Amino acid sequence: MTFLRGAAERPHHAYVFAGPEGSGKSLAARAFAASLLCANGGCGECRDCRLALRDQHPNEFVVEPEGRDIHVDTVREEVWHPAYLTAPEPGRKVFLIREADRLSPSAADTLLKVLEEPPADAVFLLLSARAHELPETIWSRCHIVTFTALSEPFVVEQLEAEGVAAARARLAARLAGGNLGRARRMAVDDDGLAFRDVAARALELGSMGAAGALEAADAVIAAAAEHKKGLGRELDAELAPFLDEKGRPEEAYRGSIRRIETRFHRRERRAERDHLDRVLMAASALLRDAVAAGTGASDRALLNPDREVAEDSSLTKAVAGLAAMEEARAALADDVNLNPRLVVERAFLQLSLQEGR
Ligand SMILES: [Zn+2]
Repeated sequence: MTFLRGAAERPHHAYVFAGPEGSGKSLAARAFAASLLCANGGCGECRDCRLALRDQHPNEFVVEPEGRDIHVDTVREEVWHPAYLTAPEPGRKVFLIREADRLSPSAADTLLKVLEEPPADAVFLLLSARAHELPETIWSRCHIVTFTALSEPFVVEQLEAEGVAAARARLAARLAGGNLGRARRMAVDDDGLAFRDVAARALELGSMGAAGALEAADAVIAAAAEHKKGLGRELDAELAPFLDEKGRPEEAYRGSIRRIETRFHRRERRAERDHLDRVLMAASALLRDAVAAGTGASDRALLNPDREVAEDSSLTKAVAGLAAMEEARAALADDVNLNPRLVVERAFLQLSLQEGR
């Protein structure tokens, strides 16, 4: 972070933030964007900082994958065009490209053209967990900043600094496997751990034969749909800073509002799958604890130290269930066209079939 503070005064045109999921790339990118857009170099207090820290500054353009890839049209509209136009507000323009390794070949070409003739007032931040998959031509035009996985104590410390109670911070850090963003959501949201209750209930149902397995899948799918519904309320809050006192969009911010809405709808489309993945991951973690307990591991090695491991769980069953959950997560991540219900049903049916053995 010290490096970024210095860089904000005389930034390069383009950066790659490279490092695994949850290593703090997004946090750093937001702080860096704030320092680039704030008149005081990132005071953390002013309007520019507050908007930038939420990825909502009008001069900030955020690009992320739609489905599997970042398409060329997106790069044209969100990077290439605005890069050569005057910024919506006085000051620099910041382009944030998340999961940059997912740029399609033609999208990468378009981005490369901009990086070859970068506008003087623009800074490009490319984030990637698989930065080695970026084309060499892009890579060579960027300043590389490497991030390493965060340690559990660091995540706990960070959450505590943000006002989270110690016990909750420790639990969230453990469950999130050192992924700061995920840990923060678990720790801060009121129902941040609700997905784990859904997972525990589904595992219970799944151990009651095939009918129970179908019911378990039902519960998981319903929880994901419910989660998506809750997101709608967040959009109103995100748009509030750009509306006048009558709740109408301010003329100058029409572009910003459109961009926030587009990103929101993209997130909404992903929301059900993201939530399914969280529930399956929690089920996986609970089964993994059953395996650990079955092999005599100490409480300190558990992913869910606050929960009792079910007494009756057999080791074979837990191992097979763990495999089934992970297989389902991989399938859903891999193929956006799969029917999620069928994938989840299959996972819990596999778990229930272990019962008779
Ligand atoms: Zn500021």
